[in-house]
This record gives sequence, structure tokens and C-alpha cells, in this order.
Amino acid sequence: MGIFDKQPKDPFISAYKLFDKKIICPNCGNEKFQVRDVLLNTSAMTFFGFDWANRTASALICTSCTRIEWYFDKPNAII
Ligand SMILES: [Zn+2]
Repeated sequence: MGIFDKQPKDPFISAYKLFDKKIICPNCGNEKFQVRDVLLNTSAMTFFGFDWANRTASALICTSCTRIEWYFDKPNAII
């Protein structure tokens, strides 16, 4: 099971904000990201078959340079 399983084929691309601050790629300054939910697996939970109990995080992937930013809480899309 890969960490990017169960993702839509064409992830929604948007600008995002967290705590009313727009998220900007620190590498290239781009403001557009793909967002993916990523399972935060722990080896103990996986060993006991409780993968479903692990939390997910949000990975924002810069559409320009592909840098990945991780967020524990999902940022809000700016429409
Ligand atoms: Zn970037």
C-alpha cells in the first residue's frame, strides 16, 4: 500500500491559506499547489493491523518546482 493510494487522478490545483496567510512556495515563490492526503503510518499500528486508526496529513505539492510542504491540518483552498 503506497502513501498516495486512493487519490483522484487529477488532483485539484489551487492556492491555499492557513491562519489567513497565503501559502507561498519557499523555493520558487509559486502560489499554486496540488494537495494530497497522506497517511501518517506508524510501524506499531501497521503491525497490529490498525492502519485505519492512523491520522492523515496534507501534502501540498508546488505545481512549479514540485517541492512538498507537509501540514498536519488541512489548509483551506482559496477560491
Ligand atoms: Zn515551488
